[in-house]
Amino acid sequence: MQRTFSLIVLFLVVTLLSFAAAWQVQIAWGAEGTATKKEVKMDSPKKVVKSEEQWKKELTPEQYRILRQAGTERAFTGALNDVYDPGLYRCGACGAPLFRSDTKYDHGTGWPSFTAPIAEGAIEYRDDNTYGMERIEVRCAACGSHLGHVFDDGPAPGGKHYCINSASMKFDKAAAVPAGPAKATFAAGCFWGVEFKLSQVPGVLSTRVGYTGGTTKDPSYEEVCTDETGHAEAVEVTYDPAKVSYEELLDTFFALHDPTQVDRQGPDVGAQYRSAVFYHSAAQELAASTAIKKLNASGKFRRPIATQVAPAGEFYPAEEYHQKYYQKRGKQGCGL
Ligand SMILES: [Zn+2]
Repeated sequence: MQRTFSLIVLFLVVTLLSFAAAWQVQIAWGAEGTATKKEVKMDSPKKVVKSEEQWKKELTPEQYRILRQAGTERAFTGALNDVYDPGLYRCGACGAPLFRSDTKYDHGTGWPSFTAPIAEGAIEYRDDNTYGMERIEVRCAACGSHLGHVFDDGPAPGGKHYCINSASMKFDKAAAVPAGPAKATFAAGCFWGVEFKLSQVPGVLSTRVGYTGGTTKDPSYEEVCTDETGHAEAVEVTYDPAKVSYEELLDTFFALHDPTQVDRQGPDVGAQYRSAVFYHSAAQELAASTAIKKLNASGKFRRPIATQVAPAGEFYPAEEYHQKYYQKRGKQGCGL
């Protein structure tokens, strides 16, 4: 009796464990955005819900057929097939960011091809067994519109081939100038000198120094200096995009410090002095990563660029005596 009972318990435990393992595998597959067998919920962008009537009104008949009825455009006819300009590919229905231009390549099949989506949560995957084929359909995670399919015959190292209809997307050229003042946030060591140099750039309207990128709320300079808050000494720039481009600000940023130094800048050592770009939009993220790629390829530096590219979070302005420090005290006291 005792033995039977133990066996039953053992059986139950093993069954439970294998269920848990199967579930884990499914989650892991989904998170990598690979050949998922079932629809798996991921960190999704804000959902866009509209009636088919509404979509019909907003989209052209060709867009509606492809995006909402899972149609396919004829190969080599799409407007974006041969586009390789820097920029952002958005959902043709809801405008959500989907792919970056630096992942686009020519697969030769006549449809825009990408190696990866802009973010794991940007895309949804579904089994598609139509036309007697086993394929994996790719949809916009925000609005559920059909984009194309993903295959395993893409280039190394990832091997993924996102085959997407031109008509399912709209292209945002990275050079597009946003209206009104824009923000940019950079960290490049001691913020006194960084603020001074960025404030000299024509088109920069205002600057302020502060702390960002860490885990604590409203830190003081002393707390940041313990190197335990995770914050970087940063400069928030407000600029006029009609007078200076984000790319030009990046040029100034990379030129004013040594972006290959890790968690230090000259004599200033610690993560608070790390090199970082805190981006405010997908276009800024794209511009920063493109600039880093170019610098790494240029041979200008012997070591790789160590600059962190991270989304801009809460910016905590530093104490008043740190603001416009150079203008108040003259150039002294720090590495730059
Ligand atoms: Zn969409």
